[in-house]
Amino acid sequence: MLVRRKMIRERALELLERFGVEQAPVPVDDLARRLGAKVVKQDAPDELSGFVLREPTKGVAIIGVNARHHPNRRRFTVGHELGHFLLHEGERLHIDRQWTGYQVKLRSEQSSAGTNVDEVEANLFAAELLMPISFLNTDLAKFARLTLTTEEKIERLANKYEVSQQALTVRLTSLGYIQQ
Ligand SMILES: [Zn+2]
Repeated sequence: MLVRRKMIRERALELLERFGVEQAPVPVDDLARRLGAKVVKQDAPDELSGFVLREPTKGVAIIGVNARHHPNRRRFTVGHELGHFLLHEGERLHIDRQWTGYQVKLRSEQSSAGTNVDEVEANLFAAELLMPISFLNTDLAKFARLTLTTEEKIERLANKYEVSQQALTVRLTSLGYIQQ
């Protein structure tokens, strides 16, 4: 199965539009709640990033995030679990361990190709939701008049979007804004 990039981008944009989100930081916990997913923070071992537990007949869910992780990482986890909730039906409990941003697709221990696709899709959804292209375009255009290094741009944008510098770097690289 292929990663549904176009559909995922459109789905994320449609949510931002529906809830009137026009600039960063995207209120991801709030969006999750409004879509029927309650976000809870729990202490957990470091390798656990989050889970989504759905109530199949009611269209609602609980998204759990690791309280020990940095708030910016937790925001990406909420986006990732929300992606599973909206895109991947049929699994009552989904637990995510030890993924770091997009790198999940490189992990050889992932058991099946299907699982890989789901994880890539959930990461893509989180990226499209938290770092929409149109927002990035606007903010990067504002930098045009300033003389900033790539590192300074990434630091400023990561602060504004409330995402990790790593997640932002991956995003900007995949969109072709920076070269690695
Ligand atoms: Zn996942």
